[in-house]
Amino acid sequence: MARKIPGKEEFHGFVAWFEAELAASSITTRLNTSATPDMLADFDEVIIATGVRPRDPGIEGQERALSYIDVLAGEAEVGTSVAIIGAGGIGFDVATYLAESDGSRTMNLDQWLQFWGVTDPEIQCGGLAEGGPRPDPAARQITLLQRKSTRPGKGLGKTTGWIHRAGLQLQGVTMRGGVNYERIAKDGLHLSSGEAHDNPEVLAVDTVVLCSGQEPERTLADALADIGTSAHVIGGADVAAELDAKRAIDQGTRLAASL
Ligand SMILES: Cc1cc2nc3c(=O)[nH]c(=O)nc-3n(C[C@H](O)[C@H](O)[C@H](O)COP(=O)(O)OP(=O)(O)OC[C@H]3O[C@@H](n4cnc5c(N)ncnc54)[C@H](O)[C@@H]3O)c2cc1C
Repeated sequence: MARKIPGKEEFHGFVAWFEAELAASSITTRLNTSATPDMLADFDEVIIATGVRPRDPGIEGQERALSYIDVLAGEAEVGTSVAIIGAGGIGFDVATYLAESDGSRTMNLDQWLQFWGVTDPEIQCGGLAEGGPRPDPAARQITLLQRKSTRPGKGLGKTTGWIHRAGLQLQGVTMRGGVNYERIAKDGLHLSSGEAHDNPEVLAVDTVVLCSGQEPERTLADALADIGTSAHVIGGADVAAELDAKRAIDQGTRLAASL
């Protein structure tokens, strides 16, 4: 999913590298297969790396909303005005994905220079283009929301978080904190603010996308535990919070080395 996000194209190479490594090895892969406990009965060791699933935010009317998975899989129709529930890393990524109209600017140098207002220092002293940044407006009207009253995007990476915030701000994406999600209805997303649920309002959007956290996908791990089969659980299936690919790979590598 990460490689679908504009700016994260390097994940294509990362996946391709693993595919090549698998092809060159004697490892048997069975794709498009949902593993069940009976399929695993004859193995000496079982490693569960089943990842995460979206957390249920428990919002009235949430069946009207889309999950970030449906959106990034390209399986859902997204309208022209969108509210994104949850302004963590995935909320920011989904906003970036939905804001792009014309492919990823990371893959188009001229577009990227124009967006950020960067030019050749030989042309303009300091490399800052005379007219400043000239971003394309977002392809949709996007509002990124969070319950916390802190600044949206505060928890993003220290060295890159400001880029994600600045990019979306340049494209006119609205970011709001301190909201309560009262319900999702036909007329849009009903919000209020603060502990007292003041200032009721309706965001009249045609699509609501849920990016409200993740939890370990442990269906298989739990089913194995129920029949007394021991297994190693790694990656998002182990701990979903603050998950990144580095942690998942690190855990997998160390476990493999220990077996
Ligand atoms: C939008 C987005 C952006 C991200 N950006 C970044 C980033 O910039 N940097 C970064 O480091 N990380 C990023 N991540 C996180 C990164 O993708 C995860 O940390 C990493 O994929 C976790 O690896 P995992 O092996 O635990 O699970 P996953 O990679 O999620 O793999 C789990 C797999 O198990 C499969 N599965 C589940 N149950 C079964 C079953 N019963 N049988 C067979 N298969 C099953 C699932 O279908 C899935 O393919 C991003 C994630 C998302 C969604």
